[in-house]
Amino acid sequence: MSRIVLLRLLGLHLALASTSLIADTSVAKNSSTHSSPPIAIAIHGGAGTITKANLTAEQDQAYRAKLQEALLVGYAILQAGHDGQDAVISAIQVMEQSPLFNAGIGAVYTYAGEHELDASIMHGALRQAGAVAGVKTIASPIAAAQAVMNHSPHVMLSGVGAETFAQEQGLSSVPNSTFNTERRYNALQKAKSVIDAKQTDLLQYQDYKYGTVGAVVLDQQGNLVAGTSTGGMTAKRYGRIGDSPVIGSGTFADNSSCAVSSTGHGEYFIRYQVAADICARMTYQGLSLEQAAQKVVNEVLVEADGSGGVIAIDHAGNIAMPFNTEGMYRASIDVHGKMTIAIYK
Ligand code: ASP
Repeated sequence: MSRIVLLRLLGLHLALASTSLIADTSVAKNSSTHSSPPIAIAIHGGAGTITKANLTAEQDQAYRAKLQEALLVGYAILQAGHDGQDAVISAIQVMEQSPLFNAGIGAVYTYAGEHELDASIMHGALRQAGAVAGVKTIASPIAAAQAVMNHSPHVMLSGVGAETFAQEQGLSSVPNSTFNTERRYNALQKAKSVIDAKQTDLLQYQDYKYGTVGAVVLDQQGNLVAGTSTGGMTAKRYGRIGDSPVIGSGTFADNSSCAVSSTGHGEYFIRYQVAADICARMTYQGLSLEQAAQKVVNEVLVEADGSGGVIAIDHAGNIAMPFNTEGMYRASIDVHGKMTIAIYK
């Protein structure tokens, strides 16, 4: 579906403002949606050292436009009454296909000069989940994660096995070079020179850029669904897998509490079980979504020195998007149809 068609579909008047936040832009609701159950969506395109000074005006606009496109694709699917997983997959695929983000095309390079992609999805109705890790030839890792969830008895498949499974499921496979971009190649050279010169390992090298993508939704049936897709960290080695395909860390969803997609320094997100911890704090401590997400991202993770952020949504459609980095590409449409697109603090 083209963006123009989508915008017409939504009856939306859009002005791609150059401000850091497009707030109070409402998605016009047609009469049939008035009595419909609430729907809401939030997406992210990664957190990290993203400041106004680091982005040109053109880059700023390009990110906002792509976030908006992904958001509206997902929202239209929710408006049409489809299951939330379709909205999550479609929104993420828009970002996987864009070189702007560290997922699919535009994924970062490993130390060896390849791309190893991770993705996961979780559906909150029955806590079903699927993930792929360290895959090199699957065109859409998030689609493969969905296939694992819906068409296998497993939760996580890795490497060549995951690629074989994806092929058997009829998903497209591509050469690894499909994911190449000059920008990420240059980032690898820079990272390698620092790592090699300092003989440090990746964890000590803090200047890598994030850029993972994710989506969380509340659909008309009351389902909460979360998904995440990434190339991981620049110059990663030894088959390193981050948090993004780890259910409970990078992705989590439970209809009774919340759905979360994470982005940041994956090792910390795994150790602190970030996504599941936010939902657990709602269930066991009675915290609101905002309180739980803030607690984990801006207290627990900060104390541990773990950088990053999350997008989260609860069963009432409340949205929280906290991060402890300088910026996080993020966008949402809440239950009232109010759209937000933001990058910086
Ligand atoms: N969390 C991802 C990882 O550690 C990176 C990111 O979010 O940008 O693999």
